[in-house]
Amino acid sequence: MASSKCTRLTEALSRPLLDSVDSVLFDCDGVLWRGDQAIPGASEVINSLKKSGKQVFFVTNNSSKTRQMYADKLGKLGFDASKDEVFGTGYCSAMYLKNVCKLDGKVYLIGSNAMRQELEYVGIQPVGVGPDPISGVQKDWANIPLDNEVRAVLVGFDEHFSYMKLNRALQYLCNPDCQFVGTNMDATLPLEGGKTIPGTGCILRSVETAAQRQAQVVGKPSNFIFECVASQFGLNPERCLMVGDRLDTDIMLGSNCGLKTLLALTGVSTVAEAEANQKSECPQRQKMVPDYYIESVADILPALQA
Ligand code: PLP
Ligand code: CA
Repeated sequence: MASSKCTRLTEALSRPLLDSVDSVLFDCDGVLWRGDQAIPGASEVINSLKKSGKQVFFVTNNSSKTRQMYADKLGKLGFDASKDEVFGTGYCSAMYLKNVCKLDGKVYLIGSNAMRQELEYVGIQPVGVGPDPISGVQKDWANIPLDNEVRAVLVGFDEHFSYMKLNRALQYLCNPDCQFVGTNMDATLPLEGGKTIPGTGCILRSVETAAQRQAQVVGKPSNFIFECVASQFGLNPERCLMVGDRLDTDIMLGSNCGLKTLLALTGVSTVAEAEANQKSECPQRQKMVPDYYIESVADILPALQA
């Protein structure tokens, strides 16, 4: 069973694979672009898939942009994309708080302005965006002013994260009725030139450690992000293909939700890592084995043009 997985996707295999799905979910960074540079040929693939009648979605763990900002970026890079097709963790965590938590109150937000906008868009009032106003001023850590209408703590990517923000989150989370939600657990973010910076997972883990509680994570590999797409567009998981560059987020998501999976080698994970997972007996590692792999999404193009 496991031996038929992790197969190189040749042109001959691409056609039956594409025929077997109605929808293709694409991870963004590492598959469609790297930083601000489109992966050569990626936009042609997306645009041809759409012309051939496939539904295409853009599914990203990056919480630092709104759906509209993604649609604008995709458009600038030559992708035919609309806001409704974008599922970022900023938007999905707002949906989670509204529809699953049925939140009645404010959110203490460790996150970006984009996350603030996504929360406001669904009618939730966030507090806390930007540098903490009393950071470096007040040292009476356990007696800081709190907003008594806060009913949830949401953690995403925050360039202003600080000890005071961590402390403030802890003070809210001491109340067991306060909901605790995180956008994603990516430990690091790869940059061009082989450099790496700390990802949202570092911030979220520190809040979890302080509060001694586990956050509900919304982004890949959590089922919620797929359910968000599936419920809005009526998707059948068996007729979906997830394309990603990370085994621990994208491929794991696909395995968790029963999607077909394709690893693109233009980003973080390697075939060697996938093959090592395949050899392992551990069920969790088996979920990090893609059905197929490909050097770049651009390699699907000939099958679409034939
Ligand atoms: N989180 C942040 C803050 C990022 O900047 C990125 C990539 O740029 C990601 C997560 C990972 O995004 P994706 O799921 O599109 O690879
Ligand atoms: Ca990625």
